[in-house]
Amino acid sequence: MDKAAPDIKSAADTALQDIKANYEFIKEQVDEAKYSAGRKDEVRIMAVTKTVDCEKINYAESLGIDLLGENRVQEFLEKYENYSEKSEIHFIGGLQNNKVKYIIDKVSMIHSVDSLKLAEEISRRALSKNLSMDILLEVNIGGELSKGGLAAEQLLETAKMISELESVRIRGLMTIPPPFEGEKYFPRMQELYEELRAKESFLNGMDTLSMGMSGDYALAVKYGSNIVRIGSGLFGYRNYTK
Ligand SMILES: *Cc1c(COP(=O)(O)O)cnc(C)c1O
Repeated sequence: MDKAAPDIKSAADTALQDIKANYEFIKEQVDEAKYSAGRKDEVRIMAVTKTVDCEKINYAESLGIDLLGENRVQEFLEKYENYSEKSEIHFIGGLQNNKVKYIIDKVSMIHSVDSLKLAEEISRRALSKNLSMDILLEVNIGGELSKGGLAAEQLLETAKMISELESVRIRGLMTIPPPFEGEKYFPRMQELYEELRAKESFLNGMDTLSMGMSGDYALAVKYGSNIVRIGSGLFGYRNYTK
């Protein structure tokens, strides 16, 4: 074979091959975790797109991924037009009230709702577009000062107030536990989720538990997660300089 110096195109091809292999691996791990946990329900694999270019995102979609997770409003708006439009898009990052209007008609769920104020703004903007937004309440299960999310103790009270709003619907809970402590915090989240669903009639329509990232998604599936949010495990390490 001719040993030409690698050109840009073949470098890009290699990266796409990696995404394919990564996706196969992730699917296998999720299936194994489901099997060990005796689960037959669906676990969705979300591709988290921050810093990833559209070519790779569209390629991931061609492999069968149908759910994208967006973190940053500005980056999302810049890339959005180049998306293939096949996928469902959820917003998963920290969201300022004044940015809600930019995403309200472009995403079908917001995972990162952690205050009544934010929920009110989402409801107001949704209403003005004649739609209803599905939301998850983000729980700061490790009680970390550096992270957003509701304290577990505030959850019920906040959920009650949010559930009165006209144009949002609470579909479940989301969390990002402290790194390497999933074994401690995922079971607590599962308990919290099941308890709220069972006891609070206004929450028994909840069907979504969003937890697990590249480092801990198999563990999260063991404890009931039904959306795992995967970035680097699928697309490779993030290049924040882009
Ligand atoms: C970046 C991000 C992820 C994915 O993280 P990886 O460790 O790269 O899989 C998942 N959820 C949220 C909220 C994120 O910001």
